[in-house]
Amino acid sequence: MVQNDRNMEKEIIEKRQGEVLVQKGITKNVKKLFLESYGCQMNFSDSEVVASILHNEGYNTTTQPEEADLILLNTCSIREKAEQTIRKRLSQFNTVKKQKPYLVIGVLGCMAERLKTKFLEEEHLVDLVVGPDAYRDLPNLLKDTEDGRSAINVLLSKEETYADISPVRLGGNGVTAFVSITRGCDNMCTFCVVPFTRGRERSRDPHSILKECRELVENGYKEITLLGQNVDSYLWYGGGPKKDFYKAGELQKATAVDFAQLLDLVATACSGARIRFSTSNPQDMHEEVLHVMAKHENICKYIHLPVQSGNTAVLQRMNRRHTREEYMELLDKIKKIIPDCAISHDMISGFCGETEEEHKDTLSLMEYAKYDFGYMFAYSERPGTPAHKNMKDDVPVEIKKRRLTEIIDLQQKLSLERMRSYTQKVHEVLIEGTSKKSEKQWYGRISQNAVAVFPKTENTKIGDFVKVWIKDCTSATLIGEIV
Ligand code: SF4
Repeated sequence: MVQNDRNMEKEIIEKRQGEVLVQKGITKNVKKLFLESYGCQMNFSDSEVVASILHNEGYNTTTQPEEADLILLNTCSIREKAEQTIRKRLSQFNTVKKQKPYLVIGVLGCMAERLKTKFLEEEHLVDLVVGPDAYRDLPNLLKDTEDGRSAINVLLSKEETYADISPVRLGGNGVTAFVSITRGCDNMCTFCVVPFTRGRERSRDPHSILKECRELVENGYKEITLLGQNVDSYLWYGGGPKKDFYKAGELQKATAVDFAQLLDLVATACSGARIRFSTSNPQDMHEEVLHVMAKHENICKYIHLPVQSGNTAVLQRMNRRHTREEYMELLDKIKKIIPDCAISHDMISGFCGETEEEHKDTLSLMEYAKYDFGYMFAYSERPGTPAHKNMKDDVPVEIKKRRLTEIIDLQQKLSLERMRSYTQKVHEVLIEGTSKKSEKQWYGRISQNAVAVFPKTENTKIGDFVKVWIKDCTSATLIGEIV
């Protein structure tokens, strides 16, 4: 980064700022932020917190990197491929960086946290590296980059939940939004980087969650998804970590809020909106959550319940603290208490030491669960995880791929069966937008999270709840008409 280019450009920006401020006599954001998110919904929600912090620093977002004064990539590290995608994307900013030497390029999120200073060493275009718990420090770090220095903050926190920051909603449809309720994870599944890149689990103050949900409804949002790596272990008793709850005082225990209570509070406070939540964890899910779901019409009948493997020995190697049988008992409980509940999963093929028999257990568990859909991947060893340190990634790639294909093919069959079960019925659908397939069609989801497409009719618009007769389907889409 060339010092005098930077000073020169700084002068231009300040001059531009000065002029605009003078003309309008008001404060106006003139700096442009290009913010691109990768990976899970937690990252997309974090980007809305980042956009809010930087908005207060004079940045407005732009969708054109060429226009940007600051480019930020919110990165994912869940699999090797996710990191390669980021490196490739960074290389695409070479030209714009040459044209705009004052341009600052930064990386946020899990890959930033995993690589830390190595990111600056390995990627010369990168000026700024910020971990998921350090976004409040962005204004200071940007000041450092203004002097031509690179800047980094990857400190993880045991308290940070950004509870007091009102996210700037990015690129949404104005009717569905995510509200984060926990950060980090304490579960230490042996294949997973999240505990290392997002730190210890902490729950957000329920008052700030309710405030954000109410504001969303007041601003016309019709669906809220409560978000966390593991929503079932949500527990608020004044800010301490869940593992210290036993030390809490009587009053703290008496006024503590767990996930079932939070869900009940949000569904009651936002009765005009649909409520969803993700991601659940079979080892922490309480039956109380199911009864709260059954009690509230506006809580959607859908649970994302990752399992990763259908075999108990593999689950033990993954440090998933439940057996195949316990997971099946939970499925039975869900279907008993909420008969029309849809369930989806996460599944990994070819984890360390996985035998053909163990793989078959995964297929038979899927048959038993009759999942609506799933996120299915071959095991990708992640540096620094317990599996990487203590186990051999010994299942050959072609076997991993063959098993993954079998899992995906089976899920395709199960999805079609599930989708068929929604046909020849009327469902309530929230219109979320125009179908990608046709300008003349709306798309939206039923309570069970399946996507439906149907012809637009007069007097219907995005954000409306409509009754749709589902006459047909594919394994991924319901086809219907408004009735
Ligand atoms: S529950 Fe396991 S897989 Fe999920 S984020 Fe936590 S450690 Fe990772």
